[in-house]
Amino acid sequence: MSESSLSRRSFLGAAGAVVAGTAITPSTAVAAPWVSRRPPAKPVVVASANGIRGVQRAFDLVTAGSDTLDAIVEGVKIQELDPNDMSVGYGGLPNEEGVVQLDASCMHGPSKRAGAVGALEGIKTPSEIARLVLKYTNHIMLVGKDAQRFATSYGYQVEDLLTPRAREAWLHWRANRGAGDDWLDVARDERLSLSTTGTINMDVVAPNGDISSITTTSGLSWKIPGRVGDSPIIGAGQYCDNDVGAAGSTGRGESNIMVCGAFLTVEFMRQGMHPKDAALATLKRVVEKTPPRLLGPDGRPNFGLNFYAVNKAGEFGGAAFGRSRFAVCDEQGARLVDSAALYE
Ligand code: ASP
Repeated sequence: MSESSLSRRSFLGAAGAVVAGTAITPSTAVAAPWVSRRPPAKPVVVASANGIRGVQRAFDLVTAGSDTLDAIVEGVKIQELDPNDMSVGYGGLPNEEGVVQLDASCMHGPSKRAGAVGALEGIKTPSEIARLVLKYTNHIMLVGKDAQRFATSYGYQVEDLLTPRAREAWLHWRANRGAGDDWLDVARDERLSLSTTGTINMDVVAPNGDISSITTTSGLSWKIPGRVGDSPIIGAGQYCDNDVGAAGSTGRGESNIMVCGAFLTVEFMRQGMHPKDAALATLKRVVEKTPPRLLGPDGRPNFGLNFYAVNKAGEFGGAAFGRSRFAVCDEQGARLVDSAALYE
């Protein structure tokens, strides 16, 4: 999407106001130095580590003049469409009944708009559907069957998102889930070793300082049907303020929702914190709000949670409880960098 016409209108409106308010002549107005005082931003894209290909794509697009949200949708779609990424979109791990339910949300800084979908079935690219909600409706979130109907109204095909690999993983999980059920256990050596969570968050700062953010996921694997995590919640899975920065998260969604983690991280940056320190401060808040059943004997959370953040100047950072890395792309190219660790 493009805000160029909007920006031009605001620009011309502002110019007119200055001319009228000070009664200066048009020729003086043209020479006025207020037109562009904002220093150019350092363009950058950050993402969870699985977004290493996507940050390069989004960076290439945004530095070639693409809109910020369009650039990161293209970035995260690489994971959504990849059947081998079992955390996002097509090929994502399903809920406890073997159904893939996807969540996504996005924010477009320059236009101050947001869109989201929750528990969406059968559509490979929930990021695009969240962007359609943002662009073409007066709402922010659509869920379930109605979100799917909304997507098909734009020509999207409903497809089976459960890949053979994800189905096999689900069948193994179902067979081995507990001793008291009627499913016979599968031998240990047949069991697949797979990650059970995953998501991609991506945040971008364009050369002109515009910012956008997006998060898309298949959610926690084996979740209770209908469970919606943090990813589609504006302020939890991601948040963007065009005057300050953007932040997003991956990991145990319920713990993030409890502190509105992406919003909180942006608020910490608004107070002047560096993105890395803001992400760490949010993680500390998570620990404070964690109930005892989710803490280990050492008092540390027994789940994983990561935050990623960028500010308007193009500074960036990430934080996790332990050692972790995230993807970044700037003029030095795409690479994985260390997150700050709350615990050594
Ligand atoms: N945050 C996602 C959710 O809770 C899962 C993840 O990032 O692994 O749905």
